[in-house]
Amino acid sequence: MTRTARSISAGSLEERVPVNTRGDEIDQLATTFNAMLDRIQHLVVGIQEIGDNVAHDLKSPLTRIRGAAEIALTTGKSMLEFEQMAASSIEECDHLLDMINTMLMISQTEAGVGELVKTDVDLTQIVNDACELFQPMATDKGVHLVCSDVEAATLHGDMSLLQRLVANLVDNAIKYTQADGRVDVSLHAKKNHEIVLTVVDTGIGILEVKQPHVFERFYRCDPSRSTAGAGLGLSLAKSIAEAHQGRIHVESRAGEGSVFTVLFDSAKITKW
Ligand code: ADP
Repeated sequence: MTRTARSISAGSLEERVPVNTRGDEIDQLATTFNAMLDRIQHLVVGIQEIGDNVAHDLKSPLTRIRGAAEIALTTGKSMLEFEQMAASSIEECDHLLDMINTMLMISQTEAGVGELVKTDVDLTQIVNDACELFQPMATDKGVHLVCSDVEAATLHGDMSLLQRLVANLVDNAIKYTQADGRVDVSLHAKKNHEIVLTVVDTGIGILEVKQPHVFERFYRCDPSRSTAGAGLGLSLAKSIAEAHQGRIHVESRAGEGSVFTVLFDSAKITKW
């Protein structure tokens, strides 16, 4: 055990200490030690993946900014070309800032250090406003966005975070649904104080193996990461739901569509 532990601390996280079948205290220690190593290995792999994804997501816009600046310097002859370069740099920087701000928002919401400005929030209004806001995007894509099943519900929470949660789910549903598909947003207030927000789409769906990962930071089902997005929307949605003592989960079938559900228990939320 000591030899294995030494080689693990020297960097080989795949190794495990041998467990005998005696079931005595040493065996129990070895089993616990191995379980701890499994967890550490899982976390380290996760951190490496996040690092790779961040590097990828930062590299592409920075390369584009550099490329545009280089072209403007070497070939730019007119004021218009310099203006175009400045405009595209601003757009790329805004995208990067948006990504960094979302990362900070997730960390703050998860750690509970961000200031949650809690009031009695009209969730019905938030859902209806989101549908109105996203209607033009849905129409442009030929997706039918329907918000007909929205009941009256109030939740004591942070309005701007709750708006962000609803917007992220509706945005994704439209983004991952093809023309002629449908997105249904509904809100139900149950007698037991439970509030259920559901966003159903008939889009591309998510493979079962990938479903547990979609709420992880920077995770995207498309490994080429070629579509717009940073893989932070669902991670933020989860941290917002949890900051309101809520839960979020997904049910999906690849090629058929997805159902994202957020459950709040309004009786559990403390008022201050
Ligand atoms: P992104 O900015 O990439 O959309 P999210 O955190 O919002 O990041 O989502 C993570 C990944 O989950 C997405 O990249 C996408 O692959 C998958 N996903 C999220 N919502 C849906 C949906 N409604 N239908 C299919 N796939 C989805």
